Amino acid sequence: MKLQDKVCIVTGAASGIGKEIAITYAREGGKVVIADLNKDAAQATADEITKSGGQAMAIAMDVTNEDQVNAAVAEVVAAWGGVDVLVSNAGIQIVHPIEEFPFADWKKMLAIHLDGAFLTTKACVPHMQKSGKGGSIIYMGSVHSKEASVLKSAYVTAKHGLIGLCKTVSKEGGKYGIRANVICPGFVRTPLVEKQIPEQAAALGISEEDVIKKVMLKETVDGEFTTVQDVAEVALLFAGFNSNALTGQSLVVSHGWFMQ
Ligand code: NAD
Repeated sequence: MKLQDKVCIVTGAASGIGKEIAITYAREGGKVVIADLNKDAAQATADEITKSGGQAMAIAMDVTNEDQVNAAVAEVVAAWGGVDVLVSNAGIQIVHPIEEFPFADWKKMLAIHLDGAFLTTKACVPHMQKSGKGGSIIYMGSVHSKEASVLKSAYVTAKHGLIGLCKTVSKEGGKYGIRANVICPGFVRTPLVEKQIPEQAAALGISEEDVIKKVMLKETVDGEFTTVQDVAEVALLFAGFNSNALTGQSLVVSHGWFMQ
């Protein structure tokens, strides 16, 4: 058990990558908080984990709302005594050519990905400092933290920004044993990506099959999607790694789409 009784908050854990990370952490003994905008789906995930013998609680949280983030973290600390691991994972995708990108959508993207990462970090760090045990903060970046694609100006900007936040949190957290790292997945077939396939087909004037083969997986070494399990394994590595030797890093998990 790599995370025995560690309190792990995972945002956006009601679906996709976050859900698999929560399940993996619970299997490794973690006490997992399923924090998500979608309270019913969060509760369903928490129930699934507890039914299979794990420890989980669901919390409604809009990561862009400071009061909700602070209240949720306070609730976790009251129930379970602290926070050991934060996975800032909640995210959405909105695609447009830049000249047509509605300013409101740009602001929404930056709010979910960057404000969400900032607010959850700010709320958890004092508890990691106070405990004397430090902690692990994991940001869900993307290959788009390193590379750009057409139509994704807001997403690429936000995901690049997470690397700057991670490096700063690593430096500030060092003396407390608070580590920060970024996971950078390639395309993973979650609801977020399923939604993009028809949208990109329409925007680029190509078939959905071509979006998968010639856009999403074109640069991989084997034409394969990355899986939620692949990403969860890396999230487990970062969460369970107990020294500052591994901090301030970003690890790409993308079937070779992007090579550092
Ligand atoms: P998903 O749509 O399956 O899950 C996202 C979850 O985030 C949902 O449960 C949703 O309710 C929640 N959420 C959305 N807005 C929120 C908010 N304001 N507050 C709290 N929760 C909110 O998506 P996914 O593919 O699992 O994506 C998870 C993360 O992984 C995102 O940050 C995404 O950018 C990143 N990512 C995904 C891929 C991919 O190919 N799927 C690749 C690289 C990075």
